[in-house]
Amino acid sequence: MNGEHKITSGHRARTALVYLRQPTLMQVREHTESTLRQYALADTAIALGWAPRDVEVIDRDLGLPGTSAAHRQGFRELMSRVCLGEVGAVLGLEISRLGRSNADLARLAEMARLTSTLLIDSDGVYDLADFNDWLVLGLKSTMSQAELHIMAGRLQAAKRAAAERGELRAPLPVGLVYDDGGMVVTDPDAEVQAAAADIFACLLAAGSAYGVVAAFAGRKFPQRAYGGAWAGQLRWAPLTHHRVLQVLKNPAYAGAYVYGRCVTRKKIDADGNVRTVTADLPRAQWPVLIKDHHPGYITWEEYLAIEARLAANHTGGGARPVREGTALCQGIIICGGCGGPMAANYHGDDRASYECHSHRDGKKTPGCRSITAHAVDDAVAGALLAALTPEQVALALAAAGEVTSQHQRTSRAAELAVERARYEADRAERAFSQVEPENRLVARTLEARWEAKLAALADAGQALAAAQDTLPPLPDRASLEKLAAGLPALWHAPTTTPRDRKRLLRTLIADVTLLPEANRAKARIGIRWHTGAADEIVIDRPRPTGVPAPTPSPATGLIRELGPVTSNTGLVTLLAQRGYRTGAGRPFDIKAVQWVRHAYQIPSPSPCRGTEISVAEAARRLACSPGVVYYWTETGQLDARRSPGGRLCIPWTPATEADCRARITSSGHLNPAARRTRPRQHR
Ligand SMILES: [Zn+2]
Repeated sequence: MNGEHKITSGHRARTALVYLRQPTLMQVREHTESTLRQYALADTAIALGWAPRDVEVIDRDLGLPGTSAAHRQGFRELMSRVCLGEVGAVLGLEISRLGRSNADLARLAEMARLTSTLLIDSDGVYDLADFNDWLVLGLKSTMSQAELHIMAGRLQAAKRAAAERGELRAPLPVGLVYDDGGMVVTDPDAEVQAAAADIFACLLAAGSAYGVVAAFAGRKFPQRAYGGAWAGQLRWAPLTHHRVLQVLKNPAYAGAYVYGRCVTRKKIDADGNVRTVTADLPRAQWPVLIKDHHPGYITWEEYLAIEARLAANHTGGGARPVREGTALCQGIIICGGCGGPMAANYHGDDRASYECHSHRDGKKTPGCRSITAHAVDDAVAGALLAALTPEQVALALAAAGEVTSQHQRTSRAAELAVERARYEADRAERAFSQVEPENRLVARTLEARWEAKLAALADAGQALAAAQDTLPPLPDRASLEKLAAGLPALWHAPTTTPRDRKRLLRTLIADVTLLPEANRAKARIGIRWHTGAADEIVIDRPRPTGVPAPTPSPATGLIRELGPVTSNTGLVTLLAQRGYRTGAGRPFDIKAVQWVRHAYQIPSPSPCRGTEISVAEAARRLACSPGVVYYWTETGQLDARRSPGGRLCIPWTPATEADCRARITSSGHLNPAARRTRPRQHR
């Protein structure tokens, strides 16, 4: 071997380390030849005079990318052992590529120089203390870096060119396959096709990716494996939220060919290690996007609609999507006092209120209010339905007609601009072709002019495309009018869910504001429409929930007078006979009577008969707590009868009372004096 004379007995007395690396698992699996050659280096070390027991192989880095030493424990181990000076030589297949970055190799070379460790590869032996060897190794390392760069550059450029033609083959999502001619077609397997199509259908019905997962409960979704032992095989697994998002966000299902949807970026983490992270690029920055490249499951317009829907569902990004609850303005109601969003809170029975939570952040203003949801909802829904009467729709359609003709005029102007630009480019070309080739000065000027005209033509073409793209599709007039006439019925139909109502509301109304109002009995509601128009409605503020209206005094008087001797049922009958109503205008029921009793502390008639007394009365007579009496009745020490109202009635005789008193006197628990009379036990 070249430079074998540099190996001394001092080197041979120390360990020979064989360092193996292979950047990816695929290389380890498929390039077995290279791996075998790397292992054969151990034999080389023995041939160079190391004892077999002194030769060690470090192969922990097989299958790990080599761009940074941070994750490669094998390389770290190699470095630390070289630093300790216990290594005589490091053997690798190609020393200049031991570490893929120059920095790793430079560090190893420096340590090897200080500890007089040899580096050996198939080209020969390097002694880093020798300036020539150090220089050669440095050069080789730089060249291998340059080679990698050039190779990667050429490969990337070729890939990019193929991608721009839409011919670069990439793994297809499930539901799409390459046919024999290399064209993308929908999967011929009907089951797979149905599963993929159902995801989009479910999204339309459910409105969210989680809704799709719920709709697929108990049903499996196909996945095609790429690479590895399962390559090309179809496997069925439960559908996860992540998978749904992958499908919904993949433009391949819309028939589009996209290259460069994700980019990888290098990042330095807190420990100083370099990490590679993958990030999605926004659609505007995709390098290659070819629409109508292959048959898809949805149209490009549907893809854009799904994208918008997912963005509107993304609460992490500040969106406030419609939820299940009945409060219509959930997510779009704003506090007019502090400008913050109001939360929809539910208090059981589906009663909801909109509440400003700015006090949590210490931003509460005197104008901040809470309000019962139904009051606002009724007003807003009324405004919505009023805006959608057939007459209003007819007006809107007339305006839409004007907008359409305006659009047509715009795009006609763009068409004319393109025609003019084409004419001027043709003229510049003709002028250039007619000039004598010898007349170079003139030819140069004319060529520049021709190029400028061609650029202007391209610009005009783009402007036309943009003008045509922004043309909104208009629904036909008859179906719109029919829809508007049927809207109130649809709105109130029991089959219409709160979610549907909210979605409908949001198509027209941008947001609702509870405006500050000095009069506490009134509420002012501002409605901002998507058109930019704004409306203001003033309503009577409903009473705060939980505090009933005061009961009219004649009814209170009756309950006060007859309450102590009449049962609740009796009172309800009496109040109904006299035609009395509660403060809220409803007939009295048991609950309402109970509330009045509670409010005015009117006792109920005693259920006890004859000699019976209540638990409270018994406790009062015995001077003990009611708990003691309850305990006796529960343990059978005292007889009691339960009244229809559920209260205990105790038949009371002098004998019963004497029994109870005796029980108290003898109880050490109830009578501490009894405890003290017992002799104490001394040891
Ligand atoms: Zn507020």
